[in-house]
Amino acid sequence: MAKKRYTINSACPQCGCSGAQVLSEEEMTRRYGHVANFDMECGECMLKYTEEMENACPEWDQECRLKE
Ligand SMILES: [Zn+2]
Repeated sequence: MAKKRYTINSACPQCGCSGAQVLSEEEMTRRYGHVANFDMECGECMLKYTEEMENACPEWDQECRLKE
């Protein structure tokens, strides 16, 4: 069975620069854990902002809810 991949889509509220990361379940757990919100840092303007998991990666958000 192929490993499931999760895509996180984020957009900087200041400069609008957006990015996507594709991570495996292990990487998601290690990097973000089961959280509703997580911190991002924009690669362009270095702004630190909070992204909602529900918006950034609905699939992972679903996983988090199942694990509650
Ligand atoms: Zn930015």
